[in-house]
Amino acid sequence: MSEQYDVIVIGGGPAGYVAAIRCAQLGLNTACVEKWINKQNKPALGGTCLNVGCIPSKALLEATELYDQAQHGFEDLGINIKGIELDVPKMISRKDKIVSELTGGIEQLFKANKITWLQGTGRLMADKQVEVTTLDGNTETHTGNSIIIATGSEPIELSATPLTGDKVVDSAGALDWEAVPGKVCVIGAGVIGLELGSVWRRLGSEVIVLEAMDEFLPMVDNAIAKDALRTFTKQGLDIRLGARVMKSEVKGESVVIDYKDKDGDQSMTVDKLIVAVGRRAVTDVVLSPESAVQSDERGQIHVNEYCETSVPGIYAIGDIVRGPMLAHKGSEEGVMVAERIVGQHGHVNYDVMPNVIYTHPEIAWVGKTEEEVKSDGTDYQVGTFPFAASGRAKAKGDTSGLVKVIRDTANDRLLGAHIIGPSASELLGQSVLTMEFDGTIEDIARTIHAHPTLSEAMHEAALGADGRAIHIANRKRR
Ligand code: FAD
Ligand code: AMP
Repeated sequence: MSEQYDVIVIGGGPAGYVAAIRCAQLGLNTACVEKWINKQNKPALGGTCLNVGCIPSKALLEATELYDQAQHGFEDLGINIKGIELDVPKMISRKDKIVSELTGGIEQLFKANKITWLQGTGRLMADKQVEVTTLDGNTETHTGNSIIIATGSEPIELSATPLTGDKVVDSAGALDWEAVPGKVCVIGAGVIGLELGSVWRRLGSEVIVLEAMDEFLPMVDNAIAKDALRTFTKQGLDIRLGARVMKSEVKGESVVIDYKDKDGDQSMTVDKLIVAVGRRAVTDVVLSPESAVQSDERGQIHVNEYCETSVPGIYAIGDIVRGPMLAHKGSEEGVMVAERIVGQHGHVNYDVMPNVIYTHPEIAWVGKTEEEVKSDGTDYQVGTFPFAASGRAKAKGDTSGLVKVIRDTANDRLLGAHIIGPSASELLGQSVLTMEFDGTIEDIARTIHAHPTLSEAMHEAALGADGRAIHIANRKRR
């Protein structure tokens, strides 16, 4: 069997499936090659994000946060709950159900948009031909007028800490334990390590996070990272910086971990180990030498700002190209490429990319950190507002954290917004929109915010950038 398509998308994650849907909306005859086999042993769309990433991790973070609150947070509200029981297998199966519903939803969207799902592994050959090894082992070759490569990323494995399937796991494995381990070690205090560490700590595990770097969350604004480290430590996450893991070994029921810190060689025995040391681009199978598409030594495909590769008509999007490994970044690139294929002017504003860490409190930011603005030599002012002074946060009983905005003194533009606190992921939206519209701090300051809401903290931070905050004493007045 050999078919000619307007577009063949290789990879059905949030970059690839969104690209395929947008191509189909624009009238292009589209196919998407996807090989994923899910936990139930069925082919599935949605990639890392829907199957073992964003969605299942958030399902567990939500459930475990409620469990943690029910155990420790309700007494202050005058609610005494007795006899709370934990049913981890049910929590995991709820997570699996959410995943199935969402991945099934993408399958329905493919049908509704008349997108052909080619179930199997795609390999790009010469002349935009895609060789597909189907799930039953047959080989077929299809051709696209345009090709979009969206094969994503996978967890980095360390040869010194080999995965064992249950005791030593990657991020996907840590979403499926059906009993709470006594002691868990996480290698890597990045976004994924902190989220998964939080899940198991809330369920009762002792959690130790070993991070090779001396700095905590270096990509986050310093004031926010400091606040986060203090809060997570108070919650019981044992975060050890400057601790480089050298080796792990399963001994009986335990895992022995050797690491080095400033005091020399250390060793630790735990029940489970999560390896969360980052992700790497997956291009080894998809790129044949005949495809002529250039990638670098880390496997990332070279693209320009429009996601065009070195070969005309072949595009690459999502985790396999430069930029942050985020679902929404890949999806926006998918939309941009689809629109450019039909001659429209799709673009991605990489300067306004929202970032979120879904711990409690959540951490969310957009734009530049204060450290970046300072090193640019820009004249700036900062406005901050603590949730401890927010009426709504007090009513919720969730007052940790703060909002921080950075203003360009010369033109009042919003250069960056940084939030640690309740619903930070949702609160970030107005700053993202302000930056997208090239708006100013004054735009936020003059916007009416409903009372009482958490978003008033953003309003007050904006007012505070030039000394006009109402509910906090200002150092300078205007
Ligand atoms: P992927 O989602 O990896 O999809 C690529 C697809 O291509 C896969 O389905 C794969 O099977 C398929 N494929 C690969 N090679 C071939 C081939 N040769 N032929 C056919 N198919 C192929 N990001 C966020 O924005 N927010 C979050 O909250 C978030 N949480 C995360 C939590 C965890 C635990 C993890 C692991 C990741 C998280 N991420 C999050 C990152 C997010 O999952 C990725 O950035 C996103 O999935 C990248 O999308 P993608 O389409 O580029 O790649
Ligand atoms: P991220 O890429 O954001 O998911 O973060 C992964 C983290 O793992 C980084 O902060 C790395 O410094 C850290 N890391 C990588 N290798 C090791 C190691 N051998 N021991 C401890 N931390 C590590």
